[in-house]
Amino acid sequence: MDFKARQKKLREHLATTRFDALLISHLPNVRYLCGFTGSAGLLLIEEAGSVFFTDVRYDTQAHEEVKGAKLVITRKSPLAGLGEFLDKRRKGRRKWAIGIESEHFTVADKKRLAKLLPAGTALKGTSGLVERARIVKDADEIGLIRSAVQVGAQLFDRALKIIRPGVQEVEVAAEMELAARRAGAEAMSFPTIIASGARSALPHGRASEQAIAPGGFVVCDFGVILSGYCSDQTRTVWVGAVTDDARRAYEAVKEAQQAAIDVVRPGIAVGEVDSAARKVLKKHKLDRYFTHSTGHGVGLEIHEAPRVADGQKEILQPGMVITIEPGVYFPGKWGIRIEDMVVVTAGGRDVLTPTGKEFLAVASS
Ligand code: ZN
Ligand code: ZN
Repeated sequence: MDFKARQKKLREHLATTRFDALLISHLPNVRYLCGFTGSAGLLLIEEAGSVFFTDVRYDTQAHEEVKGAKLVITRKSPLAGLGEFLDKRRKGRRKWAIGIESEHFTVADKKRLAKLLPAGTALKGTSGLVERARIVKDADEIGLIRSAVQVGAQLFDRALKIIRPGVQEVEVAAEMELAARRAGAEAMSFPTIIASGARSALPHGRASEQAIAPGGFVVCDFGVILSGYCSDQTRTVWVGAVTDDARRAYEAVKEAQQAAIDVVRPGIAVGEVDSAARKVLKKHKLDRYFTHSTGHGVGLEIHEAPRVADGQKEILQPGMVITIEPGVYFPGKWGIRIEDMVVVTAGGRDVLTPTGKEFLAVASS
């Protein structure tokens, strides 16, 4: 990971703003810029260089991980360490403006930091500076994402061995999560979704104690974190004797998902990817049951830019990694979603998720 190059980019941006420094507090952004993976740390980016603040619990870890920044290890909180540092740094200057991350730095922290700083220091909001840089993944990141997707995909094979009528959703999730840990995952990307029967019509039905029953779909949406990077995948299987309407709806979602994948290439707006999926579902008169957006970016976080949604203007570029996950949901009846991860390449796209998408029915007995 070229942390220095990432910081340099931000520093170039800093030179074009009215800020004297940028304070990065959102941990995935801190990790992206300097490599720190702990849970308490702040990165200050100035034109002259970068300084990383953490507390004594992370002394060893910070020395091992942090690249491209000086370290300040404090016995107090990182915020207090930063306050003391800035207080000294500011001496001799009249005005001093620090950019903070509006979406992440809390009002409480802003108040606390303001108290530690001399009068005349301004803390001003910035928005999405590091997130913008993170939207295009470099080759190292794509390699890590590929590995996460491979490990994540194995979990579905495990799920297929467990899903049977009478088995609770949480049992399926537990077996998948155990398999994930055994395969080296640091954590799940999000609480595993195993939603059966009428619960499959809930787009985010976390695994519950409900027993799987014949005559319905099971939506399995899951992902792992490997070396900090997330995977995200959904497959939907039928349980019991197959009905025509279930199979028809499944094939429509599959067709919509493929149509959205097929339009992914550099230069097109993400909104067009969304409308490609919606158009197919409309043809099948199912568009009104598709109640969420088509996808999202994935990387150090499970949901990051861009939003692959109706009307979104973000233009796809090589190196962006997005999900394509249309679904249809019939409240009280059942739901279907199919989700893959896709990387935008110079020539179009590369589907990272290796799992097949053919209609699968798990037998009743
Ligand atoms: Zn998902
Ligand atoms: Zn997703």
